[in-house]
Amino acid sequence: MSSSGSQPSIFSRIIAREIPATIVAETEHIIAFLDIAPKAPVHVVVTTKDPQYQNVVELAAGNSALLAELVAVAEQIAAERTNGQFRLVFNTGAAAGQTVFHVHAHVMGSPELTDHLGEDSLGTL
Ligand code: AMP
Repeated sequence: MSSSGSQPSIFSRIIAREIPATIVAETEHIIAFLDIAPKAPVHVVVTTKDPQYQNVVELAAGNSALLAELVAVAEQIAAERTNGQFRLVFNTGAAAGQTVFHVHAHVMGSPELTDHLGEDSLGTL
């Protein structure tokens, strides 16, 4: 149940396999899938299966071990798919660009050592 008391988030529906996504990693508590509208050559969403935390601040306060697990999965994805340098972005609040209120990180990077992410990839998430 979402802490907002509203309908299940789009991510909960992906976790329940009600809507399709390209899942790239999954653990007991965490799932990761390709972003449907990528803003970087590698753009993966990493989220908790537990929908109760709306953002990273709530997750850090409520279950810091789960936040650490999310970051570890994100790092593993970056190690597999990027040149090892990447952004880990948690949009927090609508004014900051958050559209899905089910805590998640964006892993953004490039497999190529020569590629650099532009500043615009931060502003258009
Ligand atoms: P945010 O704007 O930080 O809340 O991030 C939500 C992200 O979820 C956006 O980058 C969307 O492109 C992505 N997204 C929304 N729906 C889907 C979907 N069905 N499959 C994969 N990614 C999605």
